[in-house]
Amino acid sequence: MNHGVAIVGYGTMGDYHHRRLAALGVEVVGVVDIDPRALDDAAAAGLRPYADLAEALADPSTDFVLIATPNDSHHDIAVAALRAGKNVLCEKPATVTSTELIDVVAEAERAGRLFMVHQNRRWDPDYLSMAQVYAEQLLGPVTHIESRVHGSRGIPADWRTEKAAGGGMLLDWGVHLVDRLLLMVDSPVVDVYADLSFTLGHDVDDGFEAWLRFANGVTAVVDVSTTSFLPAPLWTLRANRGTAQIENWATPGRLLRLGQTEEEDAVPILAGTGMTKTMAPRVKDYSRQHRLDDSVETLPLPVVDADVNDFYRNAFDVVDHGATPTVANAQVLRTLRLLEAFAESHRTREVVHFEQAG
Ligand code: NAD
Repeated sequence: MNHGVAIVGYGTMGDYHHRRLAALGVEVVGVVDIDPRALDDAAAAGLRPYADLAEALADPSTDFVLIATPNDSHHDIAVAALRAGKNVLCEKPATVTSTELIDVVAEAERAGRLFMVHQNRRWDPDYLSMAQVYAEQLLGPVTHIESRVHGSRGIPADWRTEKAAGGGMLLDWGVHLVDRLLLMVDSPVVDVYADLSFTLGHDVDDGFEAWLRFANGVTAVVDVSTTSFLPAPLWTLRANRGTAQIENWATPGRLLRLGQTEEEDAVPILAGTGMTKTMAPRVKDYSRQHRLDDSVETLPLPVVDADVNDFYRNAFDVVDHGATPTVANAQVLRTLRLLEAFAESHRTREVVHFEQAG
């Protein structure tokens, strides 16, 4: 892959991209950063510290610019890079608003250059397993999806807490979770209701919960919290013949699937202060709580072979051989618009009718 890359923003993700590109044999030429310490780090890593963006864009040894700066700066850097004839790989969120993204995509079309957004969490094993459960109907048709990330450390004390920098969890984790949900469920989103959380007192959301209905009848919850000390599972998929769940990144998930055995009628149990038959669990011996009856089987989740480096390979393939971009700008735009609908629903306390069915 005969390309030269300039990285703009050499913080956590700038360094991540440098290491990945270098491992793929792609030449990272230099770095732009407004922080002299980041430029020192870049020089120590053998990269050219550019004086500013203009110097990087004038360097004929680069044909790609990789943007890994705080969110509010993506638009202007992308436009300048595209005007200078560079291809652009950009961290998520592509831009802070959908209007800005439309502007950048128009610029890319005018320049005849690539603009592609690093939606790397499409390659996450947990997502890919769940997408397979959904697509192949391993538990029958899915009726409800819950996709969450929960932490308890609040928002990192950096630009992510600032509205002007494009901070907040909608534009941080929300972008990833919604991007993947929209890929998983190939159907218009008809209704959205969302509530943003401001419990930490920042001027940006420290989490949110959104409820969606797709035209095909599937419903979904997207839930991001930075104030949850007991994280709820990353994924729950409920389907006609079972449930799939992934607790966290360290634990393999599981499928609970209705088996072939004839179901026994539930026996009413004492639950709390009352009796219930409806909510009686599927156990042979409820006093021991643990033994599932024969009507359900527990299976491992499918494992999908994938390599996140395909993001970069695809980008170079688009430029060298006219391949189709893996992350389409239309998909990214739809995600940003849906996040804007979440914010609108929060503001108005109303359901937002997002897309037309059919
Ligand atoms: P960071 O704060 O660690 O690094 C940002 C760097 O950009 C800093 O070195 C800062 O000095 C520099 N910078 C700020 N403004 C600049 C400007 N105008 N020009 C040049 N340099 C500038 O932030 P980070 O965690 O690396 O996040 C960077 C981007 O990556 C954000 O858009 C974020 O949303 C995204 N991100 C993506 C993932 C992912 O998994 N895809 C993970 C984390 C962050």
